[in-house]
Amino acid sequence: MKAAIYREYNQDPTQVIKIEDTDMPKLKANEVMIKVESASYNYNDLWAIWGDPVKVPLPHISGSDVSGIVEDVGEDVLKLKKGDRVVSHSNMSCRVCQMCTSGREYDCNDRLIWGFQTGPLWGGFCQYAHLPEVNVVKLPDTVSFDDAAAISMVGMTAWHMLVGRAKISPGQVVLIMGGTSGVGMAGIQIAKLYGCDVIATAGNKEKMDKCLELGAEYVVNHREADWYKKVREITKKQGVDVVFEHIGKSTFPQEVSLLKMGGTLVATGATTGYDSSLDLRYLFFKGTNLLGSTQGTKAELEQVIYWISKGKIKPLVSTILPFSDMVKGHTMMANADQIGKILTTPQKL
Ligand SMILES: [Zn+2]
Repeated sequence: MKAAIYREYNQDPTQVIKIEDTDMPKLKANEVMIKVESASYNYNDLWAIWGDPVKVPLPHISGSDVSGIVEDVGEDVLKLKKGDRVVSHSNMSCRVCQMCTSGREYDCNDRLIWGFQTGPLWGGFCQYAHLPEVNVVKLPDTVSFDDAAAISMVGMTAWHMLVGRAKISPGQVVLIMGGTSGVGMAGIQIAKLYGCDVIATAGNKEKMDKCLELGAEYVVNHREADWYKKVREITKKQGVDVVFEHIGKSTFPQEVSLLKMGGTLVATGATTGYDSSLDLRYLFFKGTNLLGSTQGTKAELEQVIYWISKGKIKPLVSTILPFSDMVKGHTMMANADQIGKILTTPQKL
């Protein structure tokens, strides 16, 4: 089969990724083999090639989001069969520890992100991928392979942030930072699904318009120095109930200042830097909840897929690259100027 393989780290993915012929996977008894029809890019794919902040196993196949058709199943697989349409659940946890068995697979000490920390040669940018059955979700016929690959990691992450962690409820005001990022576009739509009022932020006019199209009531440009004052004006100085955060250092202190008494900030990343400051008066005097969040559960991914099948969450796809051009996807993602997810199609060279 063809796979996108690299054997050394490099800041420039075009220097090291090659489409190579490699052996078909050998299935374990609990695994499913997927003929990969669509695969999407995530920032962890860049970190993997850079070898920073994590030295991933080499040689490496990246890719943590794939969708496709079940080609084969191991003898212990219970609920999936050849021909099923499926999407990957990249959160690989041990499934037997106290965290896992209490429903907190994202807090498992042995958790690995498939296609990022797994290997050598175990990720999604290839024609046939293999995963344990528990890491594979069946797709309804109404959800396309491209939509499924575009949403699986970001949709689950956003759902876990807002529903699992912040426990949003109807009528709340939710501030979605970076509304056209992968998690942001899912965040806007999930908050609307739950009957919240959404204020989104974006970095330019085109992205701001897209936030409104996705359902946000208001949008502000977070690259403007007084962006947080505009958010405060929109809320008539009341502030917001929930902040959905992944931007990091450049906006974090202002986000905390925008929370209502007893409000909640839930964070899943720090793109602009992690060594931020916090005015502790906001924390104790206002009873602020600061929550961290990483990935989510398989059940949460199934919720996201269900709502896509109902047309209530629509994944944003910017570009679909033939597999022979897949390395371009990394460069496009590093430039961060596209709106929506980048996909590649391993069966279409
Ligand atoms: Zn565990």
